[in-house]
Amino acid sequence: MSKKREKNKKSFICIDCDEETTDYYRISTNKGYITKCAKCYELWMSRMVRSNSIIQNPHSRNSNLEYDD
Ligand SMILES: [Zn+2]
Repeated sequence: MSKKREKNKKSFICIDCDEETTDYYRISTNKGYITKCAKCYELWMSRMVRSNSIIQNPHSRNSNLEYDD
């Protein structure tokens, strides 16, 4: 049994910052799988949440009209 296995941790290149990372996330998109490092993944997630709330805003505006404050 060799101890060299410990060095065989797979690393990927983050598509956002182009840095090699072993702390990565794989995300499936319509173009296939993309790999982001943990940092960029968190940034991307917070961006997704923001854009989702932008999409939801017109709906909440419509429902606000019903209350007619
Ligand atoms: Zn990155």
